[in-house]
Amino acid sequence: VKKKASNYEKQAQPVKQTAVLGAGIMGGGIAYQSASKGTPILMKDIKDDAIELGLKEARKLFAKQVERKKFTTEQMAEKLTNIRPTLSYGDFDNVDLVVEAVVENPKVKDAVLTEVEGVVGENTILTSNTSTISINRLAQNLKRPENFCGMHFFNPVHRMPLVEVIRGEKTSDAAVGATVAYARAMGKTPIVVNDCPGFLVNRVLFPYFGGFSFLVEQGADFQRVDKVMEKFGWPMGPAYLLDVVGLDTAVHANEVMAEGFPDRMAREGKTAIQVMYDNDRLGQKNDKGFYAYE
Ligand code: NAD
Repeated sequence: VKKKASNYEKQAQPVKQTAVLGAGIMGGGIAYQSASKGTPILMKDIKDDAIELGLKEARKLFAKQVERKKFTTEQMAEKLTNIRPTLSYGDFDNVDLVVEAVVENPKVKDAVLTEVEGVVGENTILTSNTSTISINRLAQNLKRPENFCGMHFFNPVHRMPLVEVIRGEKTSDAAVGATVAYARAMGKTPIVVNDCPGFLVNRVLFPYFGGFSFLVEQGADFQRVDKVMEKFGWPMGPAYLLDVVGLDTAVHANEVMAEGFPDRMAREGKTAIQVMYDNDRLGQKNDKGFYAYE
């Protein structure tokens, strides 16, 4: 962990208008969170139906807040206008900060980041919500790598308080500052970390998943392990958490971690997590993981 997140904010340009690229699970959640806390956000995707899904998700979350009497219907309608869906870069010239949240594919991210860098102002901060791709690697093709850093949210965005702000080798303090300030404006707790496989949270979480996988491979009952960890005081056990994260995401992230830390994270043979994935048990996203979902 670098300097305290708050130290960077002194150098930050104000973040008044933002944009998110990708209206998927994360993009939709980021748009909702920004809009609900009052920062206008453009939500860009390449497909109309993706935009519709992102908006539907945001409307659902706003409606829940109305049910809980956190907002009135009028406030909800007003906050919803903070999200401006778009299929083009038309209004990107006055955006202060962009969060890239397209599919986890380095080539797609490279193309999208290069594209957006060409349409925004010179001082616009670009960030990526990547979970596994190196920030230094994504910065390589950018003309202004000093304006780029990671902004890693967790799923579901509206419930998870932490945001990892990942500083690349060339990232400026001003870029970190603006990103930290925006995270705070969204009601989140930012931490500033260096670029490495797994950043901070996944470096703690994946060895834990690995330990759990070992237990299951040795014959432990996963439900019992979950119950034990709940009694230990954690909100959920590792099997349930893996179902939430997605077994495909877990396998991919584990590969990245094993490549980055072969001495600690690489394993011979198949892990229990890999076996689940091979059997198309992806977790909540396809209704079957360690547990079955309706
Ligand atoms: P998703 O598949 O739900 O959404 C991706 C969206 O990007 C889709 O709507 C797609 O149409 C859109 N897209 C693709 N190419 C585009 C382009 N050129 N321009 C604009 N939009 C484009 O994916 P997701 O789960 O929301 O993940 C997005 C990013 O967030 C990934 O980098 C992922 O690693 C990261 N992330 C995901 C999670 C998670 O739990 N899902 C958690 C943290 C971070």
